[in-house]
This record gives sequence, structure tokens and C-alpha cells, in this order.
Amino acid sequence: MLVMKFGGTSVGAVEQIRTAAKIVESAVPSGPIVILSAMAGVTDGLLTAGQVAVQGLTRDRDDKLWEIRSKHDRAINDLFEERRVAAEVQETLRPLWEEMQKVFTGVSLLRELSTRSRDLIGSFGERLIVPLFTRYLKALGLQAEAIDAREFIITSDEAEFMLVDFDETKKRCRRLAELVKSGIVPVVTGFICSTPDGITMTLGRGSSDYSATIVGSCVKASEIQIWTDVDGVMTADPRHVSDARVLDRVSYREAAEMSYFGAKVLHPKTIIPAADENIPIRIKNTFNPDFQGTLISAETPTQHQNVKTVTSITGLTLVSIEGRGMMGVAGIAGRVFMTTAENRIGVLMFSQGSSEQHISLVVGKQDGEVAVKSLRRQFQHEIEHRRVDKISGVSDVAIIALVGEGMKGTPGVAARVFNVVGEGGIGIMMIAQGSSEINLSFVVRQKDATRAVQLLHSALDLGRRL
Ligand code: ADP
Ligand code: ASP
Ligand code: MG
Repeated sequence: MLVMKFGGTSVGAVEQIRTAAKIVESAVPSGPIVILSAMAGVTDGLLTAGQVAVQGLTRDRDDKLWEIRSKHDRAINDLFEERRVAAEVQETLRPLWEEMQKVFTGVSLLRELSTRSRDLIGSFGERLIVPLFTRYLKALGLQAEAIDAREFIITSDEAEFMLVDFDETKKRCRRLAELVKSGIVPVVTGFICSTPDGITMTLGRGSSDYSATIVGSCVKASEIQIWTDVDGVMTADPRHVSDARVLDRVSYREAAEMSYFGAKVLHPKTIIPAADENIPIRIKNTFNPDFQGTLISAETPTQHQNVKTVTSITGLTLVSIEGRGMMGVAGIAGRVFMTTAENRIGVLMFSQGSSEQHISLVVGKQDGEVAVKSLRRQFQHEIEHRRVDKISGVSDVAIIALVGEGMKGTPGVAARVFNVVGEGGIGIMMIAQGSSEINLSFVVRQKDATRAVQLLHSALDLGRRL
């Protein structure tokens, strides 16, 4: 069995849908299971419609929904020239438009948009494209069946710390394997899942990649293909670095670090299920299907090159806790983490000086203020007794990260990196290196992030083909 996930741009308009369907058709002998993202821009559009609905802006809400509807209508009319078939597809989608109408009216009336409502609103993009794409595969002569992932990807109902119940999911995935065995191509909604009680949830923005590896690991696929709009995992974000190069091979550990530190081509959770079952992931370009892409597997050749990628994450806040009196006070770091966990704040990076006089952590900008306030409350006693001098936050910072298995045990990488950044006149506000030594990350002001990435990409010669 082969899992093939197509991202938003790969199903973003009629031409792309045709291309993606052809790719599926050519994979039929390998027993494909297709996972789809919503058409490009649709999830954003739905969530924007939710936001304006909750503000009472019903006109803007309806404009957004109309835009989404016309995008699908256009695709249906262009894909299915036979009017009868187009009408049949419209009919299949009708209950979804009606459900959307009710949900959005509910949000406008209640003027309330909970996490649960937002997940339900976000779910429509994938639920709309899947029946449409499935019908198109059938029009090409394939046997295909539209599947709603809420029937088998089961998670806990804690939105922020949600966990996939792999035992239950695996059990339910047997149905997919049976379909494949009988020659049917299952076409599955990415992104969405459900609690055991049937409440609609999502796996997080950009998480259809993760849906693909969840399914792939549960059916023990031979390969998981992520079809997107670039040739593979690149040495840097091609939108910021013009000579970024495609990497042929990347290890699971490298891919996990790269995606965690901002390589948007993969959702950060994607690697875990595939690595657990040792299933290779291949990143492929829908618009250049003959290109081999990037293979992600357990092993990777590491010769010559120390660093493989340089990535950045923006929109962050750096929180610092300083105080000479912290030295020797047990459990400060523990209390910091307890406080962030209690407030459901994700910590992207953490560092503590050996003298314990300074602790820094990086959090999302949206959590910055809460982090500072709740830490001040937690350390109120220490602040009053001058053990902690200052707890402060600096917003608009970015993490820059270098990743590569070859960095392990190679001396001088950090020195080189900090030299380059320093010579570029960019100040470094915090540094961390994972104990696995396959990543080196540091914090700079957000305004310097792109230049730092470009300087490092060029100075470390990452664009050079080996
Ligand atoms: P999809 O809709 O197919 O999931 P995404 O937009 O989520 O596609 O991810 C692909 C995009 O990720 C590319 O168009 C590229 O701009 C961006 N990207 C960022 N960093 C990298 C990287 N290191 N390698 C490849 N692409 C990257
Ligand atoms: N459509 C979802 C999103 O935009 C999931 C995905 O694209 O992977 O977040
Ligand atoms: Mg994506």
C-alpha cells in the first residue's frame, strides 16, 4: 500500500486537480490511499469567516462563504463537462453547504467561537474537496471511495494537548486496507479527526501531512508520499533564499528538527508515526512529478556537509528570568515549566546558565504576555526577597536553526555560525544546542531573521551541489 497526500496547492484549481488525479491513476498498481488537504486558501477563508461572524459582521461572513462556494462550483463545472455528473456532485455537496450555513449562523447569533467551533468550521475544506476529487477519479475510470477521517482518526478531546489514540485508529484503519485490497482507492480527508464521542477536531494547521503518516503507519504502508508545490525538502525556504537547493536524502531525525524549526514543507508531527514503523517518506512535486524528490528515512549519508538546512520561525517572544539570588535555589526550572504548562503555553526553546542566574525561554507571541505575568506571580515571593531581580519579555524575535546529522562531533560549527552572524551586525539574544547535536538554534530580532538565514546559507555554502 502506498499513501499519497496532496497539499492545498496540489488541489487548488482544476488544472492541479487533473494533474493530481493522473498521478493517483499511475499509482493504482501500488494500492494507493489518497489523503487530501482543502483547496489552497479555503481553510484560511473558513477561519476568517468564523472570525468576522463572531464580530457580528454578517455581510463579510457571507462574502467569504460565497467566495469559497464559487471556488468549488467553478471546479465542479470545469471538471465535469457532462451536466448530469456536475449536478450529481453539487447534490453530494449540498448537505455540507447546509451544515455550514447553520454553523456560521450559530456563531453569528451566539457571538461565540470556541476551539470546538473553530475546529468544526475548519473541517469543511477537506470535507468539500474529498467527494469532488473522488468523483473525478471515478470519471477517469478508477474505483474510488470518499472517506471522512473522523470515522477512524480518534483523539483525546483536549484541544491543546490532544493525542492520537493509535490503538483505536489502527483498528479502524483496517477498513481502508480492505478497500485497497478490493481494488478501491480510498480518498481521505486530511487535517480532521474526532474524539471517541464523535466531536470534530483538527490535528492543527498544516497537519494533513500528519494525517498521512498516521494512516500510513496504521496500515503499514510501504511508502508515504507528500505531494506539494516544491521539489522536496530544501536547504532553506525558497521564498527567502534564491539559491536554496533540494536535498536528496534526509534522516527522520533531521526532518523532525527541520520541520520543528520552521521548514513549512512538513508539519512538525509528521515524522513520528513514520519513524516508529520505519516507513520512508518521499516529498514530491505535483508540478514536476518525474523528479525524484527528497527521501526521508532512518539513515542518511552525511559526508562532507556539516549543516543541511537553515530555517527560521518568526512571531515569537523571548522571556527572561534573571536574579543572582536564584543560584542554588532548587527547582526554579521545574517551576517555570509548571507555570507554562498550567497556562497551556508551548515552550519552543529553553536555556539556563550554569550559574542559574539567568533562564530564558521562547514562546509564541500570543502567549508572551501571559507567560511574563504568570511567571511573575509564580516567583512573587522570590521577587519580594530579591532572589529574582527581573522577569521580562521581548517580543518580535525569531529562532534561526541549523540542522544536520553531520554537525555531530564536528568542532567549530557554532564558532563559524556566530562569526558570520556577528559580522553581519546581527545580535544574538539566546543560544541552544540540542543534546543530540544535530541542531544549533539561536534567537535574533525578527527584523534580522531573513538576512541571518541568507548570510548563513551563503557562508556555509549550502546551495552547492555535492
Ligand atoms: P502544502 O499545501 O502542499 O502542504 P505548504 O505550503 O504547507 O504546502 O508547504 C510547502 C511550502 O513550504 C513550499 O512552497 C515552500 O515555500 C515552503 N518551505 C519552507 N521551508 C522549506 C524548505 N526548507 N524546503 C522546502 N519548502 C519549504
Ligand atoms: N487545510 C489545513 C490547513 O490549511 C491542513 C493542511 O493544509 O495541511 O491548515
Ligand atoms: Mg503543508
